[in-house]
Amino acid sequence: MSENPTQSSSSESDSSPGPQTDRRTFLKGSAAALGASAVSTEAVRGREERGPAAGDVPTARSSKGMVSSVHPQATEIGAEVLRDGGNAVDAAVAVQFALNVVQPHASGIGGGGFMVVYDAEEDELYSVDNRERAPFGATPEMFLDDDGEPIPFQQRRASGNAVGVPGTLRAADVALKRFGSRELSSLIDPAVGLAAKSGPKVTVDAPLAEAIAGNAQVFNDAAQSVFAPGGSPLEEGDRLVQPDLADTFRTIRDEGIGAFYKGPIGEAMAETVQDAGGSMRPSDVGRYNVTIDHPEHAEFRDVTVRTQSLPSSGGLTIGQILKLVEPLDLCRYGRQSPETYEILLEAYGHAYADRGAYMGDKAFVDAPWQGLFDEDYLDSRREGIAADGTANASPGPGNPWDYQPGEPYQIDALGRDELAGGGRARDRGQTTHFTTADSEGNMVSWTSTIEQFFGSGLMVPDHGFMLNNELTDFDAVPGGPNEVQPWKRPLSSTSPTIVFKDGDPYMTVGSPGGKTIITTVAQIILNVVEFDMSLAQAIAAPRVYKDTDPEIIWERGVPRGVRRQLTEAGFEFADEPSQLGNAQAILVDPESGEYVGAADPRRDGSVVGL
Ligand code: GLU
Repeated sequence: MSENPTQSSSSESDSSPGPQTDRRTFLKGSAAALGASAVSTEAVRGREERGPAAGDVPTARSSKGMVSSVHPQATEIGAEVLRDGGNAVDAAVAVQFALNVVQPHASGIGGGGFMVVYDAEEDELYSVDNRERAPFGATPEMFLDDDGEPIPFQQRRASGNAVGVPGTLRAADVALKRFGSRELSSLIDPAVGLAAKSGPKVTVDAPLAEAIAGNAQVFNDAAQSVFAPGGSPLEEGDRLVQPDLADTFRTIRDEGIGAFYKGPIGEAMAETVQDAGGSMRPSDVGRYNVTIDHPEHAEFRDVTVRTQSLPSSGGLTIGQILKLVEPLDLCRYGRQSPETYEILLEAYGHAYADRGAYMGDKAFVDAPWQGLFDEDYLDSRREGIAADGTANASPGPGNPWDYQPGEPYQIDALGRDELAGGGRARDRGQTTHFTTADSEGNMVSWTSTIEQFFGSGLMVPDHGFMLNNELTDFDAVPGGPNEVQPWKRPLSSTSPTIVFKDGDPYMTVGSPGGKTIITTVAQIILNVVEFDMSLAQAIAAPRVYKDTDPEIIWERGVPRGVRRQLTEAGFEFADEPSQLGNAQAILVDPESGEYVGAADPRRDGSVVGL
């Protein structure tokens, strides 16, 4: 529990999930507004040594509404929309615009993402897929040099070829028209204030300062003038003023999103991309639209996990991990046991091998979604997954096509990860996840990204927003399911999730972290559903990541004895711990029906209950 009693005001960390309350009870549940809780310096220092504890996780409880995001000003703006009678989608849109200002390195109108929405009245789950698309001028070879070798990641990241046609603003507009109750103009307005000099003060926080220091080398002149004026990177505590962004938001507020997709903002964006060597034209921008989809679903124990489908691998790969471990009864070993870690690491290795071999934009690639979940196929994969003290660390892909009718029209048995030409550093792009819920039972789980912190490093001059580098999520080497093709969406790992129990929403969860998103979200779901942890415990628990690369990324808090034992078994742990992900989540308390919100202390997230 809490190291610091002033810290988390909710009793959530103590409570374990039990049976689900029906939606009516939940809607009538009593309000216990707790507001946001701040993280003390003492707690921050403590978790640097041992990783976060449940007591470090800000939580809130309320039946009226909830907002959880990575930044207190964005969270508060979303909460204000809810207080004013807006619904969860309205609040999420306001949070997104605010995050564009206060965390400009992680998401914004120059990027894209996936927004999963539960519509309580329809009792239906949708996803608004706003993944960036390759412009029509993109080619499969565009990330290769003259010798046919992949251009080094940092170089291709900072080129115009990396910039996909952005979807975030279109998603905000479409989602509001389809699910919202407010006009976009009223929801972008608070962000105008935050960006303008005359508005509320925004100061550079530690994560932003770190992101500026770490990425200043790729800034174009426009980005440098905002984030490193005169060549001096802004530091923690400095004021952040973005007048060009304020103007862009004013234009969108007053003229609508046409100014971006069919007007001067889009034209300026295409020009910036072309100046940096890309092919994007205003006609690509004007053609962009989101798709409204239904997320994947995987049954696990007594819940249904519903996560974004392709072009995000999140839905299939999280589902596969959960199905692979389900019959192995991890809870009998205990969460921090070597057996649990061994099984998880081997399951991750198998699932990522299949991901790399078979997944890409579903409009271009026929992924074996049925075979991947076939019980006989899963059994064949489980042959390599056991707590037997022998590492099966880097398995190749299986052949799920043998377990599903039909022939693929594109298949790659080589495992694209090895051919992606990117290396480990690029696996952990960083974005932002936020989540909202309202008094009607609507919930939003939205992961939004410009890929790496500050994306391509290109800011559209005079318009103040950063352009993504999402197209580096394509394989640099052509030939596989995730090769570059015109108008294709690069394979993603983002996993905005809503878990259902007894047919009702039970938990929202999501995280940034590139390919590590999948294991972060899977672990949080396992922590709650398999290991019966509270939401705060589930978010605080140390995480591990492994794909087809032998090296295991791990967080402080993974027991030393486990690492020693598994190293003896043949697993390779990175020399130093890292930080994995930054999850925001909302759980519907099974007993009271109230929302219990939590924000990840790894980046000082904040949560507000109404
Ligand atoms: N580009 C990443 C993906 O779509 C998201 C960025 C991140 O959060 O890491 O998988």
